[in-house]
Amino acid sequence: MKTEKIETLHVSVGFTCNNSCFFCMESNKKLRYDTVKKFISSDHMYREMDKHRNVKKIGFGRGEPTLNPDLPKYIAYAKKKGFLEIAVISNGRQYKDKEFCRKLIESGVTEFIVSLHGHTKEIHEVLTRGKDSFLETTQGLKNLSELRHQFKFRIVISHVVTKVNYRFIGNFLKLMRNFTISEILLGVVRPYNCGGMKKFFFALMPKYSEVAKEIDQLFEKNAKLFFSKEDANKKYVIINDIPACSSKKLVELIGIRREWVSGNDIKGEEYADGLPRLKSIKCQKCLYEKMCGGIFESYINHYGWDEFTPVVKK
Ligand code: SF4
Repeated sequence: MKTEKIETLHVSVGFTCNNSCFFCMESNKKLRYDTVKKFISSDHMYREMDKHRNVKKIGFGRGEPTLNPDLPKYIAYAKKKGFLEIAVISNGRQYKDKEFCRKLIESGVTEFIVSLHGHTKEIHEVLTRGKDSFLETTQGLKNLSELRHQFKFRIVISHVVTKVNYRFIGNFLKLMRNFTISEILLGVVRPYNCGGMKKFFFALMPKYSEVAKEIDQLFEKNAKLFFSKEDANKKYVIINDIPACSSKKLVELIGIRREWVSGNDIKGEEYADGLPRLKSIKCQKCLYEKMCGGIFESYINHYGWDEFTPVVKK
């Protein structure tokens, strides 16, 4: 299991978003606006970057960062200040404009983290509730893939696994072969106690055991899909937010824990989502107990403990 920690200064630059994902932790747009507006000023942004010069990686996110016209300016400042890795976490819709992509790259972006949640318009857009979001984001991935011939940067895909799309992970990984992707993060949706996740828990939250079964079968049938197109020896799919006990085979693909250091609104805590997690008494016997953060309390309240069996030998 990969447990590498990636220290990242996470900076909020987006007031708003042009998608409206069902599972978004910031479904209350007014609250997001009120929270983020306190932090979005050039002065504050520059101060944060000056304060955290020891951190190697910076990620611009929150809301949809590409809608902030000052984003290229902040990226250029981060580059000037010596951040070695500069990421933008985005739904990728604005990347439909190739010149905009080029501008961000020339300002200093080294990693585009792009969210795509389905292999078809229907699946992606039922989750994002953003008309044309599938077409725009996939066009964006095409543009970025082409620009990778000219510039050095990474494209990372963030795919939130829900009850709506988990049966189509294979189709999704096949679609990804059309682009030059550096890494794919499959993260099982987190059961936030708000917005769509609160209202539609059973429609959105898959059982971990079902997701694990789907991935295990896919790996058995077509392992190639889990390996990079650029380097056939490199596993480029990483599964996040699923407990290691869900499947023995899955363990090798499970997660990089991202460690957020204090950014302009997120404190340096182990899990920035602040969601309570639980372990059962049986977890004490588990080989992965030390590296496992436990199961979300809200998940247990809905689905119980039945599917979790401690791993006692590899
Ligand atoms: S510690 Fe508990 S929840 Fe975590 S992997 Fe082991 S059995 Fe599963």
